[in-house]
Amino acid sequence: MNPTHSHVVDGRRGLPAAQQPEWPDQNALRRITEELAAASPLVLVEECDRLRELLGAAARGEAFVLQGGDCAETFAGSTADAVQGTLRTLLQMALVLTHGASVPVVKVGRMAGQFAKPRSSRTETRGAVTLPSYFGDAVNGLEFTPEARRPDPARLRTAYETSAATLNLVRAFARGGSADLHRVQSWNRGFLTDTPAAARYERLAGEIDRTLAFMRACGVDPRQLHTTEFFTSHEGLLLDYEVALTRVDRESGRAYSAGAHLLWIGERTRDPAGAHVEFFSRIANPVAVKLGPSTTPDELMAYADRLDPDRTAGRLSFVVRMGRDRIRDLLPVLVEKAAGNGVRACWLTDPMHGNTFTVGGRKTRRFDDVLDEVRGFFEVHRALGSRPGGLHLELTGDDVTECLGGGRAMGVGDLRRDYASACDPRLNHSQSLDLAFLVAEMLQD
Ligand code: PEP
Ligand code: MN
Repeated sequence: MNPTHSHVVDGRRGLPAAQQPEWPDQNALRRITEELAAASPLVLVEECDRLRELLGAAARGEAFVLQGGDCAETFAGSTADAVQGTLRTLLQMALVLTHGASVPVVKVGRMAGQFAKPRSSRTETRGAVTLPSYFGDAVNGLEFTPEARRPDPARLRTAYETSAATLNLVRAFARGGSADLHRVQSWNRGFLTDTPAAARYERLAGEIDRTLAFMRACGVDPRQLHTTEFFTSHEGLLLDYEVALTRVDRESGRAYSAGAHLLWIGERTRDPAGAHVEFFSRIANPVAVKLGPSTTPDELMAYADRLDPDRTAGRLSFVVRMGRDRIRDLLPVLVEKAAGNGVRACWLTDPMHGNTFTVGGRKTRRFDDVLDEVRGFFEVHRALGSRPGGLHLELTGDDVTECLGGGRAMGVGDLRRDYASACDPRLNHSQSLDLAFLVAEMLQD
């Protein structure tokens, strides 16, 4: 792909761009975005097109999407262990879903670039001190000091480099034997083994091992069992970064983000007349828009018309995050509007962001609320004859204590024990597996 001149895809002129940092050093910003504009692409056009096809299949009900990872990746937290923990968790969940539902699962990490966060308040106050909020490691540091919280454009370069290192692990993992279906037992290694979900997974893995041994004995050992396809995604929030990482494909002449296979627009930056929608309309990757409770049917049509005027299957996904109390009331009118106007979007449920609350100063979510929103999402689609396309989750392979409930019944008192998220609370490994088993049952119904 060719580096592109930013004006081709920028589209910011005169348009409101929400949630952008106030970079104190514009010269440094220019220097770094020029470097990024000349840097190697992280993903290739063919891979993005392939994901678009798979998302099209999910929109038709022929596949199911599992998108997940940290709310906010951090530079320090992007260790090989953490990355592999998330990958193995997603692989295990995908196995559970595929086995339960007999549909292919499209695996998309919220990883290798999820370094920027929109915030409800630009500043944070502790006692008598007010500082800029933490906007993700690509912008500033989490530590509550004036130095750390000052936006630093050099962080954009570190975000790119850390994404490249993570993606290298993702590719090695997917292709290099670790994701081989003959190793389903090993995916559980290092995780807690005394949880109900782990025991259930062990049984499933044993069953799959026996099936594979049987197939091999029959002389059947297809290539597809030895590797997997894995895609990356992040919120396309920081336009300076995203524009710099856009490349024009020589063959088609179309612009693509070279920073991730899929980018999404967040709930706080989805103004149909804003700079994010404009930028997303200029790239050819599959894209998604988060839809919160205030979304109107007219806005939904604006996204479809701006981002997917040709109604290309898999180009546009909607990530619905209404909250468990409201999903059943608010989603039907949107699904009906889309269906009535030939919009072929892939519908995903984000059952996390509408169910957040704070206890003892920590953000958390109840497993049962998350599950109930997924149920509501399935109910609405089933009632209207449309397709629940997949899940969008905040999760980790680590044994953190950030969300309440699940098979191991995490309580409020547990939250202080291992709360490691830089932003929103994530399902831990066993809660993630719990959810996968329950969603697999919904897919069977
Ligand atoms: C997120 O995905 O972390 C997020 C901020 O979500 P939303 O834009 O839906 O609030
Ligand atoms: Mn989040």
